[in-house]
Amino acid sequence: MSIALNYSSEDLIDLEDRYGAHNYRPLDVVLSKGEGVWVWDVEGNRYMDCLSAYSAVNQGHAHPRIRQALIEQAERLPLTSRAFRNDQLGLFYQEVCNLTGYEMALPMNTGAEAVETALKAARKWSYTVKGVPDGQAKIIACQGNFAGRTISIISFSSEPQYRDGFGPFTPGFKIIPYGDAKALKDAITPDTAAFIVEPIQGEGGVIVPPDGYLTQVRDICSRHNVLMIADEIQTGLGRTGKLFACDHEDVQPDVITIGKALSGGYYPVSAVLASREVLGVFNPGDHGSTFGGNPLGMAVAREALRVLVEENMIKNAAELGEYFQDQLAEINSPHVKEVRGKGLLIGVELKPGSGGARRFCEALQERGILAKETHHNIIRFAPPLVITRQDIDWTLDRIRPVLLMD
Ligand SMILES: *Cc1c(COP(=O)(O)O)cnc(C)c1O
Repeated sequence: MSIALNYSSEDLIDLEDRYGAHNYRPLDVVLSKGEGVWVWDVEGNRYMDCLSAYSAVNQGHAHPRIRQALIEQAERLPLTSRAFRNDQLGLFYQEVCNLTGYEMALPMNTGAEAVETALKAARKWSYTVKGVPDGQAKIIACQGNFAGRTISIISFSSEPQYRDGFGPFTPGFKIIPYGDAKALKDAITPDTAAFIVEPIQGEGGVIVPPDGYLTQVRDICSRHNVLMIADEIQTGLGRTGKLFACDHEDVQPDVITIGKALSGGYYPVSAVLASREVLGVFNPGDHGSTFGGNPLGMAVAREALRVLVEENMIKNAAELGEYFQDQLAEINSPHVKEVRGKGLLIGVELKPGSGGARRFCEALQERGILAKETHHNIIRFAPPLVITRQDIDWTLDRIRPVLLMD
């Protein structure tokens, strides 16, 4: 098997640097195997994965049931395109709608595609249902958002690096501060189609909005006939200790985007969930994707959702997330400004003088923990939801000396 490759980590890093575009700056660890919360590098060193591929492997690495679903479907029929029907798609629709309470779903592949799809649906809904004059639809987004990397999505990013060099941008977006319901109310005009919001900003630095924010947003959107789009691609599917992070306030958005853990890491699968009124705006030919809704992806997603529920991962994220966060907060490090998050989406924000999160992540790597800095001064801890209390204690024993170093 590929584990017996005659290449060292150093050789493989050289190859990446020589032939690959340098659009990432990964930690220099070359992984070749994973199981549950653990991953192994080419040299056989074991690490606890505290990133979970940005929450795409909530179910743990190489989950055996999802792997089996993938293998069985791969042996039968991987791809039909949507020109024909397949025997997995209808079942996926039914199961995802029953689980989440939405009337309709539209499957895509990556998260960015799900967001693009939601924005297209919102624009068309605003013209055909709300009555916004043609070409005038506006969508409101928040400062610090992350929704992907396509040109339209970076058009409403507030992060200079995501935009620099990539204009001209898609018009029709307005940016307001995150966590500020009044700013939303003030920004809405008769042409506003939708407000897109992350219930917790993941890439933005695990930013948790004030309690009651989502409830207020829901209320404002309803009163002004504006669609509330929750981007739950990172926060959804159990990560924060509920199926959706919006469930913490019992808020039901009009539209939800999901991705990442929808496939348990095996395959890119994303989806838009919404009412019939919203997703019903699409007519044949309006929108599509060669791979969206393919039988391999659908079989994987069906099993990934079942595993999440049947193996109690959401409850585990709630209980152990609270424990992990409490224990982190007790470390009393001179470098730490704040520990925050919900469930197993935890951010440790460092003080300005701490020298940045990267050096802490490198020190964690030396002790067998993989975590990634976000926004220079925040360490994110987001292990797979299958983590045990013992695993967390093991991790804390290694995090403590790192956070207490000079
Ligand atoms: C990761 C992410 C996306 C984009 O997903 P990709 O699969 O990388 O395109 C969108 N929204 C949020 C909140 C994300 O965390």
